[in-house]
Amino acid sequence: MFAVHLMAFYFTKLKEDQIKKVDRFLYHMRLSDDTLLDIMARFQAEMQRGLGKDTNPTASVKMLPTFVRAIPDGSEHGEFLSLDLGGSKFRVLKVQVSEEGKRNVQMESQFYPTPNEIIRGNGSELFDYVADCLADFMKTKGLKHKKLPLGLTFSFPCRQTKLEEDIDVDILALVNDTVGTMMTCAYDDPYCEVGVIIGTGTNACYMEDMSNIDLVEGDEGRMCINTEWGAFGDDGALEDIRTEFDRELDLGSLNPGKQLFEKMISGLYLGELVRIILLKMAKVGLLFGGKKSSALHTKGKIETRHVAAMEKYKEGLANTREILTDLGLEPSEADCLAVQQVCTIVSFRSANLCAAALAAILTRLRENKKLVRLRTTVGVDGTLYKIHPQYPKRLHKVVRRLVPNCDVRFLLSESGSTKGAAMVTAVASRVQAQRRQIDKVLALFRLTQEQLKGVQSKMRTELEYGLKKDTHLLATVKMLPTYVCGMPDGTEKGKFLALDLGGTNFRVLLVKIRSGRKSVRMYNKIFAIPLEIMQGTGEELFDHIVQCIADFLDYMGLKGAQLPLGFTFSFPCRQTSIDKGILIEWTKGFKATDCEGEDVVDMLREAIKRRNEFDLDIVAVVNDTVGTMMTCGYEDPNCEIGLIAGTGSNMCYMEEMKNIELVEGDEGKMCINTEWGGFGDNGCIDDIRTQYDRKVDEGSLNPGKQRYEKMTSGMYLGEIVRQILIDLTKQGLLFRGQISERLRTRGIFETKFLSQIESDRLALLQVRRILQQLGLDSTCEDSIVVKEVCGAVSRRAAQLCGAGLAAVVEKRREDQGLEYLKVTVGVDGTLYKLHPHFSRILQETVKELAPRCDVTLMLSEDGSGKGAALITAVAKRLQQAQKEK
Ligand code: ADP
Ligand code: MG
Repeated sequence: MFAVHLMAFYFTKLKEDQIKKVDRFLYHMRLSDDTLLDIMARFQAEMQRGLGKDTNPTASVKMLPTFVRAIPDGSEHGEFLSLDLGGSKFRVLKVQVSEEGKRNVQMESQFYPTPNEIIRGNGSELFDYVADCLADFMKTKGLKHKKLPLGLTFSFPCRQTKLEEDIDVDILALVNDTVGTMMTCAYDDPYCEVGVIIGTGTNACYMEDMSNIDLVEGDEGRMCINTEWGAFGDDGALEDIRTEFDRELDLGSLNPGKQLFEKMISGLYLGELVRIILLKMAKVGLLFGGKKSSALHTKGKIETRHVAAMEKYKEGLANTREILTDLGLEPSEADCLAVQQVCTIVSFRSANLCAAALAAILTRLRENKKLVRLRTTVGVDGTLYKIHPQYPKRLHKVVRRLVPNCDVRFLLSESGSTKGAAMVTAVASRVQAQRRQIDKVLALFRLTQEQLKGVQSKMRTELEYGLKKDTHLLATVKMLPTYVCGMPDGTEKGKFLALDLGGTNFRVLLVKIRSGRKSVRMYNKIFAIPLEIMQGTGEELFDHIVQCIADFLDYMGLKGAQLPLGFTFSFPCRQTSIDKGILIEWTKGFKATDCEGEDVVDMLREAIKRRNEFDLDIVAVVNDTVGTMMTCGYEDPNCEIGLIAGTGSNMCYMEEMKNIELVEGDEGKMCINTEWGGFGDNGCIDDIRTQYDRKVDEGSLNPGKQRYEKMTSGMYLGEIVRQILIDLTKQGLLFRGQISERLRTRGIFETKFLSQIESDRLALLQVRRILQQLGLDSTCEDSIVVKEVCGAVSRRAAQLCGAGLAAVVEKRREDQGLEYLKVTVGVDGTLYKLHPHFSRILQETVKELAPRCDVTLMLSEDGSGKGAALITAVAKRLQQAQKEK
């Protein structure tokens, strides 16, 4: 017993001594965590340099864009061909990717030799050879007459400009092996966004935000970057950690001065590094009693598989003795222990360096996503990683230590690179097919110049119809006379009350107008109109309104004051005088009973009477378009048009009395409230309406009515988007084909989300967050599609609105016999105000369709409230003048 213990003690002591000896000798190869963190920071800077347009040409880490933009989502299916042109062998595969519920990939493959003369020959010989092999493969597999998409793995750095290059196959995806690895792993684990190769060579790729890739156009989404990290240090960035052994190895290599990082890491070099070290140690008498063998002097005699064998846990020592003996050496027990330690240090350093660079990539991913903690998966392939007994464990441990705020899963890629090429091809062909389907839907919303001109001319026809006595009653654009004939002249003054009943809210305002300086002061209070009141009885609605007025008067301390009142009522009313307005029909979200066909001024008066608390002098009932026009007209005498792009869509303008057949008199002008929202209710624009517009219409309170409004205004744009999203999801093009309960809910997609999503300042990630808040679990690609959908819908809205406006300004120009018309349009409405592109597109469309009109769009701040007061003031002034006469 005692002897055994003694032996064990002796052995332990011997081992410790050898380890100490080697550790001292290779002190420079053992990297502390501080050094690794420093290398990590250097690599982060390198990546940045590689991505920048100006710095890329001189950067040693090239950060090549791969044009792979999407990772598998599991819906890929079909048959694909794949070629792997790696190192020694050349492989052709047929890959069958099936959908059917679970992810399933089946492969059939065949190896072909790559004769040396072909590898060293020119490119066209190589490709001829590849084509021959491919033809042979297709023949033996009975694929001769199929035209399958093909992916090609190419594990050499190559600059890609396009994913598909053409050599008479359907799609040819040129795929780096790192990308193939990432894609293969991503097929099984959607969190995978990094691919690492630790084999003959070493390299990594990861998904980078497009906005950070200067070399490629576009800012949306992500693209896989092939880092080509093997070249890290080629500009001298790693000189402080390179050792004399690294230099010697480099000098003896085929590409001195190149791939310096790789030469410290990958399988092609580790064995050679060990050999150089052992030789040196023998020379200085630290090993083999100072004896060397000729094999030890021979380049390439120790290979990485030997290193791996020597580091094996149990058989390692025996393996070492055998390997050294094969090299013609006579190792002692101590020598074997020392050699094992050399192997450990060399391969440990490799794992450490790999970990440092990988940690840099992970940190970059985390920062791109603005996350405190990142959960991600790294796909790994490569023989060194696979066959070395300790390598994976060491790599994982160091990575976790260097980036404690990343939860990393490492996934070994099964025959990664080749299968990956098929995966890239599969994804590319899925994305392409999906793209076609999405484009088909979006194309429905793209209006040609011709179509817009068609809308313009039809609108023009409808405007004329509405003005004529015989056609007026049938016209869809009602062209309602407003009895507003004069514009403010600046002499108006006094205190007025104004009411503004628009789409959702009700406002009561006190407006103080001072003449001379044209100053207007306003005080207002906003009251919500609950849905049950909007859609309850008329009496309830008007009682509620009067209640709000009472609150406001109380609040302002004005109870009992008999102020003139203007009522902005933004629904179609037939007027016979300025203070009489018969509601034709409700629009937007209103549906209160017993109002249609009634005079809203009467209803208001009766409600005031019912309350019996105060009296008001109701002077004018005003449409919000008119109020808006008035407000702008107060400042700009050229303003003769009012436009609303809010909950609803409407327009008014000053028309020649002689054209208004419904009103007596031919002198002067009167404002016409067009109520153009009803344009198209006779089917005249059905050719441009889509199935989505029909769906929105069917689900609305007034089916078949207000068709133009339903394509152009705030109440409906979000709904159109929602209908499109539902359809795209049904087609499997969005949200992984899952229609959530939220998406089924009417109204959840408010138009304000279009404004947010389409904002140029918003990163894709924020779009994703908005969608997530809406309960829509979206991927990056989903977010891009949703943004495109929003853009298509809002663009069409602005264009249609512009076409309508063009019809009016052209009419005004022709009616006045002008070569050129200069006119200002007062505009109000939240859609116009807050949507990031609506106003610009509107303006551009008018300019294109009415080139001889110089149209200035003027935002009317608070037009409808202020306008009502101004109209009341004008009406008062005219009343006064009448009396004086
Ligand atoms: P109204 O037309 O009812 O008088 P607004 O002009 O304020 O009132 O328009 C309100 C409508 O504007 C809402 O129904 C909504 O559809 C839309 N909206 C609200 N916020 C935004 C936004 N940020 N961008 C675009 N549209 C919006
Ligand atoms: Mg309004």
